[in-house]
Amino acid sequence: MRAISFDRDLVRFSIGFLIIAFLALICCPNPCAAQARPFPGPDVQQIYQRLLPQIQKIPAFDHHAHPGFADDPDVDAMAAPPDASAPLRTRDDNPELIAAAKALFGYPYSDLSPEHSKWLVEKKAELRKQYPGPAYFNMILDKLNTETSVANRAMMADYLDPKRFPWVFFADSFMWPFNNRNETGRNTDQGVFIPLQEKMLRRWMLQENVSKLPANFSDYLKFISQVLENNKSKGGIAQKFEVAYFRPTTFGDPSHAEAEGIYRRYISGGMPPEKEYRTFQDYIFRYLIQEGGRLHLPVHIHTAVGIGDYFNLSQSNVMNLESVLRDPRYVSTTFVLIHGGYPLEREAIWLAAMKNVYLDSSFGELAQYPSAFKETLKMWLETFPDKVTFGTDCFPYNQVLGAEESYWLGVQSSRTALAAALSEMVSENEITEARALELAHGYLHDNAVKLYEGRVH
Ligand SMILES: [Zn+2]
Repeated sequence: MRAISFDRDLVRFSIGFLIIAFLALICCPNPCAAQARPFPGPDVQQIYQRLLPQIQKIPAFDHHAHPGFADDPDVDAMAAPPDASAPLRTRDDNPELIAAAKALFGYPYSDLSPEHSKWLVEKKAELRKQYPGPAYFNMILDKLNTETSVANRAMMADYLDPKRFPWVFFADSFMWPFNNRNETGRNTDQGVFIPLQEKMLRRWMLQENVSKLPANFSDYLKFISQVLENNKSKGGIAQKFEVAYFRPTTFGDPSHAEAEGIYRRYISGGMPPEKEYRTFQDYIFRYLIQEGGRLHLPVHIHTAVGIGDYFNLSQSNVMNLESVLRDPRYVSTTFVLIHGGYPLEREAIWLAAMKNVYLDSSFGELAQYPSAFKETLKMWLETFPDKVTFGTDCFPYNQVLGAEESYWLGVQSSRTALAAALSEMVSENEITEARALELAHGYLHDNAVKLYEGRVH
C-alpha cells in the first residue's frame, strides 16, 4: 500500500511539474528572456559566425539596382556630371573591388594595372560567349544568391531576363515639358541632367506615337496615364522619381485650374518663371503618385545625397516629403524611400510608421563601410523591422569594373552588416536567434516582395 501511494504521489507530482513547465513555455516563449543590456556580450562573435552562413543562404530580392554593361546608356535615365566628387568607398580604385573580381571571376592579380585589367575584360567577354544573352547576368545573380533584382533603367535591355530583372521605369520627365533653357543653365549638373529628362520625355512620346505634346492639359494628363499603363503592361512594377536631383522636394498643392493655366501658357513656347514651373511640377508629381495608387504601381523616390557637387542636400531632405507621405489622399499608393534618406536615415525610419511607406537601404551599404552600415540596419530593425528592404544600387563603374563587381560589394556588405547587426541584437537580449533569422528573411526578401502583390518573387 505504501509503495502504491508513493507512486501515486510521484505521478501527481510529475503531472503538476509538466503542467507548470508547459504553462511557463506558453507564457514565455523565449526561455532566455531578460532585460536588454547596453553592450553585446563575449558571445557576439560566435553568434555572428552562426548567423552569417544562414544569412548567406537566403535568396535575396534586390530592391534597387542599375544592372547593365558600361557602354549601355539606358542603365539610368541620368548620368553623372563630369568631375563630380565621389565619397571614398564608391571610387573605382576601392581595393575591395579587386576582391569582388577575385570572388566572381577568379581574378588572379592584386592590382588593376592596365595589363592585369585586360585579363578581367577578356574573362568577362569569354563568359558572355559561354552565357549568351540573358544567361550572363542570370549567372551573376546565381553567384550572388540573388533570386531577383530590380532593374531601375531608362528602358529594359534584351540581355536582361525580365523574370529575374523586373523593370522600374522613370517618371520624372513629365514634369519638364516646357522650354528648359533656364533649368538647364542653372549649373553644370543641371546642364547634364535636364537634357536627359527632355530625352526621356521624347522617348515616352515615341512609345505612344505622339509627335507633339497636346495643346489641352487634360489630354496631357491622359498621355501620362497611358505611358504608365503601357509601362505596366510591358512588365514595369513601379515608377521611380529622382526629382531631388532637379528641384527641391517640397511639393505645394496647387489646383487643377492653376496647373492647367500654366500648361496653356507655356506648352507652345515661352519660358515659365521658376515659381510657375515649380507649381506646375507640384501638380504633376501629385497626379503621378495618385495614379500609382490607382494602377498599383508603387512609387520609388530617391531620398539621399546624390551625385554631382551641386546636389542640394537641405532642399532634398527626406523629411520634405512628410506632408505628402502622411496625406490621407495617398494611402492607396505604396511609397519606397530609395536609399532610406541617407544620411538622415534615423529620421526617415519614422516615416515608415505609415502603413504604405517602406525604406530601401541601397547605396547606404556602398557609401558606408559595413561597420557603419551595421548601425543603420540595427536602428531600423529595432524600429520598424517589417518596413525595411534590401537593395544594392549597383552600377557599372567603368569598362573594366562593371555592375557585376558593384553587385558583389553591395550584396556582401549588406549580408555581413545584417549578420553583425542581428548578432548584437541577440547578444544584447533584444531578440532570439530564431527571430533574428525571421528579420533577415524579411529584410533580404519578403518585405519587398509582398509590395508587388504576386508580380515578383
Ligand atoms: Zn540608383
